[in-house]
Amino acid sequence: MHIENDVFNIEFNEKDEPFAKDILNSLANEQGRIMGFFGLKKLPKKVEIILYNNLQDFINLRTENGKYPERYQGWNVATVKNGDIHILNFDLYKNAPQHEDTTLDDYKKVLLHEFVHACHEEILLDKNNMPALLMEGIATQLAGQTKYDLNRKIDCSPQDLVRKFYRVKYSYAYAYEIMGYLMETNSHEDLLKILREPHKIDAFDLVAKTNSYLENKQECKKENKNFNKNMLER
Ligand SMILES: [Zn+2]
Repeated sequence: MHIENDVFNIEFNEKDEPFAKDILNSLANEQGRIMGFFGLKKLPKKVEIILYNNLQDFINLRTENGKYPERYQGWNVATVKNGDIHILNFDLYKNAPQHEDTTLDDYKKVLLHEFVHACHEEILLDKNNMPALLMEGIATQLAGQTKYDLNRKIDCSPQDLVRKFYRVKYSYAYAYEIMGYLMETNSHEDLLKILREPHKIDAFDLVAKTNSYLENKQECKKENKNFNKNMLER
């Protein structure tokens, strides 16, 4: 079965109908904000979301995808193939190791995250050149995935962060912080320029600046705390 609006088309099994409707509603509430951010009025085609209620079907897709020729990794619960979002339904998603604490809200943010990728792709000048760092940064930020908001100083090599993003521990948290810094310190117009040509980033500079930005933020928090304490003591 399927339901759709002007931006999304969701394929699902009958049993998931109320769930699919709920998801479409939530996405519909956010689609304007995300597309507006990228200055998009319309996407060239609807974003397809395929909900799986059978784990084996999803595993087959991944294997065919060529990503897991040897063994399916149990924590993998969503993937994008040819621009379409394939995702386990909420029950199967929570069955996967590392995802048992996922709330429905987190799940919807994962879909929104993938939607951000689809919109971002539309403005990229060089689609073959997508550094994961800024891609994941903008996706986690715009999807509001605050679970990555760890206020963590970046203590890995900037080069690894750019070249081996998916192998770096805490990479999503770092991407979240770096994008937070860029969003805070650039006009919307300048930020879009960066996102159009993300391969031009100077990772060393960006990591250094993000770290001093984080330090400042923590200093400010400390000061605020002291300020509040003083106020109370008075
Ligand atoms: Zn992503």
